[in-house]
Amino acid sequence: MFAPNGPAAAPFAPGFTNRFHGLGPDFFTELQAASLPNPHWVAVSAGCTALLGWPAQWWQEPGALAAFSGNAAWPGMRPLASVYSGHQFGVWAGQLGDGRALWLGEVESPSGPQELQLKGAGQTPYSRRGDGRAVLRSSIREFLCSEAMAALGIPTTRALCLVGSGELKIQREAVETAAVVTRVAPSFLRFGHFEHFAHHGMPDQLRQLFDYFVAHYAPECAQAPNPVAAVLARVAGQTAELIAQWQAVGFMHGVMNTDNMSMLGLTIDYGPFGFMDGFDPGHVCNHSDHQGRYAFSRQPQIGFWNLHALAQALFPLMPNAESDADAASEELQASLEVYRERFGTALPAAMRAKLGLWETLDEDGPLIDDWLRLLAKHHTDYTIAHRRLAVFDPAQALDAPANAPVRDLFLDRPAFDAWAARYAERLKKAPADTSMARAARMNAVNPAVVLRNHLAQTAIQRAEAGDFSDVQRLQQVLSRPYDEPANPADADFPPNWAQHLEVSCSS
Ligand code: AMP
Ligand code: MG
Repeated sequence: MFAPNGPAAAPFAPGFTNRFHGLGPDFFTELQAASLPNPHWVAVSAGCTALLGWPAQWWQEPGALAAFSGNAAWPGMRPLASVYSGHQFGVWAGQLGDGRALWLGEVESPSGPQELQLKGAGQTPYSRRGDGRAVLRSSIREFLCSEAMAALGIPTTRALCLVGSGELKIQREAVETAAVVTRVAPSFLRFGHFEHFAHHGMPDQLRQLFDYFVAHYAPECAQAPNPVAAVLARVAGQTAELIAQWQAVGFMHGVMNTDNMSMLGLTIDYGPFGFMDGFDPGHVCNHSDHQGRYAFSRQPQIGFWNLHALAQALFPLMPNAESDADAASEELQASLEVYRERFGTALPAAMRAKLGLWETLDEDGPLIDDWLRLLAKHHTDYTIAHRRLAVFDPAQALDAPANAPVRDLFLDRPAFDAWAARYAERLKKAPADTSMARAARMNAVNPAVVLRNHLAQTAIQRAEAGDFSDVQRLQQVLSRPYDEPANPADADFPPNWAQHLEVSCSS
C-alpha cells in the first residue's frame, strides 16, 4: 500500500478554515501538538481519503507524516482543544474536554466541510491527570472500527490515517507504544459541550454555541417556531436512528457517557466497544463497566437518558424558560418523544430487513422477538446466524440439507424447528420474492464481516511486533462488509482464545 507508485503528482496542500475559532477563548485553548518521535505510517484509509476528495497518495506529500503525527502543522492548521463536560456512568463529572484530541481545522470536501482532529497528540489544558496520548492498540481499534462502521452504513466519525512511534512508550497496565489517529467529522460537538456551559452558569456562551450549531449544522431549525425544541428533536431523531443501527448490527459502544454523544448522531469515541459474538442481550463489552450500565440491551434507554441531559442543558435557551417553565419543559419533553417514535420504527424496520421481511405484517414483531430469544437462549453467533438465515429455504423441509447451515447453529433442533416453521410460513406469504432475490437483499443488510475483538486483536499483536500489513488488510476487508471475504476466517466464529479477551477503558 505504501510503495511509491507512478509519476509524482502535483503538490497537494488542502486549505484549512477555522470556524470554531470564531467562538472565542471560552470554548477552547489554542495549542500545538506535542511531538511524536520518529513517527511512521501504520495505515491510511482510502475510503476516508475519497470522502475528503484528496488524491490517493496524499500521505506521500512532504510534510504529511509530520502533520498527522503532530510534529509540524500544515499551513492553515490552527490546532485547538475544546472544553466540554458531561455525565459519566450516570453521574455529573464536571469539566472534561479534549484531553488528548486536537482540532486542526476544517477542510472543504465534496461532502461539505469536514473537521480534522488528532487523537493522542499530547496533553492539553483538559488532560486532567492523563498523558494526552493513546496507545497503538486502542488507536488501531478506533481506526479500524470508524472505517468499518462507515462501510456498514452506520453514522460515525471517520479515521483518515494512523501514525505510530516505536520510540514513545506510554504507561497503561503495561508499557505500550504511542500512536496518533486522525479523525474526520463534519463536527465533533458533543452533548457535553452544551452541558458544559449550562452547568457552569454561562448562558451567553450556551446561546453562542447553540447559534453556531444551528448556523452550521442545523440551518432548518432556525426557521422552526421554536429552534431550541427543533434542535433537540433533530438530535433525538438522529440518535434514535443511530442506536437502532447499533442494535441491529450488534454493536456495543461501551462508554455511552454524555461527553461521548455526538450532536450529529455519529458514533464517536471508540474505546472498549465490541460487536456481539454469541448473542447475549445483557452483554457488557467494557470490562470496567462493573454495573453493566452500558450493556447491549440498555443502549436504547441510555440514549434516551443522555438526551434528557441534553434537554436539561438546552432548557435555559427556551424563550419561556423563566416565564412559563412548565410549558418550556413540556415542549422539550415533546421533542424527546421523537426519540421513542423514531427508535420504535427504525429498529423493527432494520430487524425485518435482517430477516428478509419486506412488507410489514402483524405477526412480524413476535416472530422477530422469538428469533432473538432463540439466539439468546443458545448464545448463537449474532452475525453468522443472520448471514446464514439468507440461505434458509422455506420450500424445503426444515431438516433438508439446504437448511442445515442455519439449523445446525442450534443444538436444540426442536426449538429451532418450532421457530423456523413459523418463519417458513411467513416467508411464503411473499410469493413474488424468490429465494435468490431474498438472499441477495438479506446479504446487503446482514454483514459477513464485523470487527470482532479477535480480528482486531490479531492485527494489533502483529502491529505491536512491527508488521502493519494485517491492519491494512483488515481495513480493506471491513470496507466491504457485505461481501464474503476472500479469507473465510474473517467471517468465522471467534476462536476459543478470544473468549477470554477483555477490553477496558484503558486506551
Ligand atoms: P473517554 O472515556 O475516552 O471518552 O475520555 C473521557 C475524558 O478523559 C475526556 O475528556 C478525554 O479527553 C480524557 N482522556 C482520556 N484518556 C486521556 C489521556 N490519556 N490523556 C488525557 N486525557 C484523556
Ligand atoms: Mg470521550
